[in-house]
Amino acid sequence: MDKYKTDVLVIGAGAVGTAMARELSKLSLKVILVDRLNDVGGDASKSNSAIIHTGFDAPPQSLESSLVVHANPMYDQLCSDLDVPFARTGAVLVAITKEEQAELPAIIAKARANHVYDTEYLTASQVLDLEPEVNPEVRAGLYVPRESIIDPFLLVVAQAENAAANGVEILTDWQIVSLNQDKTAFVAESAAGQIETRFVVNAAGLFTDVISGFLGIKDFQVYPRRGQFHILDKAAPLGVKHIILPVPTKITKGKLLTPTIHGNWLMGPTAEDLDDRFAHQTTSEGLQEIVNGVRKLVPSVKAEFAITQYAGLRPVRNPGGYHIRTFEHLPGYLELSGIRSTGLTSSLAVARYACGKLIEMGMPNKRKEKFISKRKAITCFSKADAETKQKLIKDNPMYGRVICRCETVTEAEMIEAIRRTPGAKDLDGIKRRVRAGLGRCQGGFCGMRVPRILSDQLGISMEEVTKKGPGSEILIGTTKSLRINRNETDSL
Ligand SMILES: Cc1cc2nc3c(=O)[nH]c(=O)nc-3n(C[C@H](O)[C@H](O)[C@H](O)COP(=O)(O)OP(=O)(O)OC[C@H]3O[C@@H](n4cnc5c(N)ncnc54)[C@H](O)[C@@H]3O)c2cc1C
Repeated sequence: MDKYKTDVLVIGAGAVGTAMARELSKLSLKVILVDRLNDVGGDASKSNSAIIHTGFDAPPQSLESSLVVHANPMYDQLCSDLDVPFARTGAVLVAITKEEQAELPAIIAKARANHVYDTEYLTASQVLDLEPEVNPEVRAGLYVPRESIIDPFLLVVAQAENAAANGVEILTDWQIVSLNQDKTAFVAESAAGQIETRFVVNAAGLFTDVISGFLGIKDFQVYPRRGQFHILDKAAPLGVKHIILPVPTKITKGKLLTPTIHGNWLMGPTAEDLDDRFAHQTTSEGLQEIVNGVRKLVPSVKAEFAITQYAGLRPVRNPGGYHIRTFEHLPGYLELSGIRSTGLTSSLAVARYACGKLIEMGMPNKRKEKFISKRKAITCFSKADAETKQKLIKDNPMYGRVICRCETVTEAEMIEAIRRTPGAKDLDGIKRRVRAGLGRCQGGFCGMRVPRILSDQLGISMEEVTKKGPGSEILIGTTKSLRINRNETDSL
């Protein structure tokens, strides 16, 4: 059992936890970030719509609205400092029916109440000028210029890498199974060890109620609201350039169509309230519902454009709303719960706000003399010009070995993804860091070559290579030994 002593323990390495860890790494403190999964990236944080919202439709005067609205402008600087793909595409909200059109003044009023003053009314012809593939029956719309798109996984990885570069220790495969207050410290335990800490930040998303429950806080529950998505082929005959939003309802922002930062499109999500916090599977009904919904906005969309699907679980809190809480009887404990469907965006502001709360509780606030504010992304071979490509190959011949043909990802990029801190440990870690296996063939070609690289770099056997941690091993033995085993079994 490993034993650690730290000033601050952050539980959960999703968007919120990694933003928190980076923010804390600006201070002269010892910080540990843990996650129950075998990689950073979170749960909801890696399976969402990948939109950095403006907060135009957030509940006015709420903590959520304040944090989302203030977070949006922070992305230009952060993404430039940490080399994270980000684009201010803008969104067009589309009203097709008379009833939807009637909602627009209230949405503009909400945007004004949230100080998102650049939201503009569009006539039907203005909508079609901006996005000619929108349903020609459109009656009117809104233009929200600062709604933006990002690579959500790289946002989290980049913050984790930068936090690590600034001294934060990151422990994965570290599920906290108990948390106790012991005089002036807390003691957190996992199967792997024990951490003694003065401050605890609960950023466990869907499991924030479980962590708070360890300390006897039982006044709320979290349940999953599943959102399914289709990812569309880059080559799909679609010209859509903005995020296309429906008129939102009380329950959901609705099913949207959005370009991704890598040149695909996403359509979804559904909004299904479930009990099972591990229900990441997609369903044929949900996927059909998305196609039907999005085709009302953009009729040229077809189910055949999809290359794959996924689902994410929003951590819905009951009672609802963002809750960033401290407790008089638990000095040093900070709970971040209810960060449900805007948390990718708000995480940067949540981290600043939450650090303030820790300082109010007595956390030392001494700035580091030498905070490293920048992080460089892994060089993307496919985006380099011909001259740079030649130089890359000359300096490192592994750039000459294209492993993923759909996305043109080289062995050099994969090796770097594995060697960074925190590095990729499995196929999903590689896929999310450098896009190998995310193209049209979905790993059909590189699926067997990436495990070889993982095996060589991590010093593990091919049978130990997994898709996403223990239990998802890809190979179970060589074909010959299988045949021998089967013969042996047959003869019994
Ligand atoms: C379908 C869908 C669409 C969305 N679209 C958007 C969008 O476009 N824009 C936007 O801003 N937001 C969006 N969101 C919301 C956003 O994804 C979430 O609000 C945000 O990701 C929450 O981040 P988090 O770090 O709190 O949670 P998570 O990403 O869930 O991270 C929590 C982490 O805690 C870890 N953990 C849990 N229990 C333990 C334990 N006992 N020990 C150790 N670790 C533990 C988990 O493994 C997980 O990694 C969407 C969400 C969904 C599901």
